[in-house]
Amino acid sequence: EMMNRRPLVIANWKMNKLPSESSAYIQKIANPLRRYPDVIPVLAGQDVLLPAMVEAAKQTDISIGAENMYWQDRGAFTGETSPAALEDLGVTYVIIGHSERRNYFRETDEKVNLKAQAALQHNLIPIIAIDEAIKPKDDNDRSHWVVNEVIESLEGISAEVAKSVIIAYEPTASIGSGQAMTPALAQFSLRRIRLTLADMYDWDVANAVRIMYGGSVKPENAYELMIQDDIDGVLVGDSALDPDNFIELCQVA
Ligand code: PGA
Repeated sequence: EMMNRRPLVIANWKMNKLPSESSAYIQKIANPLRRYPDVIPVLAGQDVLLPAMVEAAKQTDISIGAENMYWQDRGAFTGETSPAALEDLGVTYVIIGHSERRNYFRETDEKVNLKAQAALQHNLIPIIAIDEAIKPKDDNDRSHWVVNEVIESLEGISAEVAKSVIIAYEPTASIGSGQAMTPALAQFSLRRIRLTLADMYDWDVANAVRIMYGGSVKPENAYELMIQDDIDGVLVGDSALDPDNFIELCQVA
């Protein structure tokens, strides 16, 4: 592999931690992670945790991400979170279009695209989740779904800006099920995603974009996934709730 894409380990805490727990977690992992300077560690938490997380992550190599946001900066949108506010707070990543957002909160590809564009305008790196909610009949079926979501999520985003985007392929059936996709199948889908980027833009962009696999990743299966050519990192829910597992995942990466 000629490309030098730094691997990422992204924890998606979902709605599982309290502010006080988040600081303790960060204190626990900060020093051990200094042993793996090639890995980019990212912790994503619910909005009410973010101020405490950003504070605890100062003077560490850990980056903080939001799990969702709105696409407008300000206005009468009661209960929503502004990208401008996340930027101002010192958040650097935001997960967009997670399968749970798509399935429980009716997030569409159009909204995902608006949010991705808003993130990029606010120096937030969007982690765009491709959820593959279908049960594919065959490889063609699977390709079709993945290719469409990539195209629709990135609509209107220029090549220069697209390079900083992160794409997370998370087949819904593998999320929270304990059953990760086989590394070969995950590689197949990630390759499709990279080929789609090359079609939409060029190989410069396709080789720059970091693509994650997510869905029941844990220290025991992370190595087989991470050695696949197109897998640049992992997005981890359940297993990453434990700080020791997070450290182990960074070691594997
Ligand atoms: P999981 O969740 O690791 O618990 O399967 C992954 C995700 O939903 O991002």
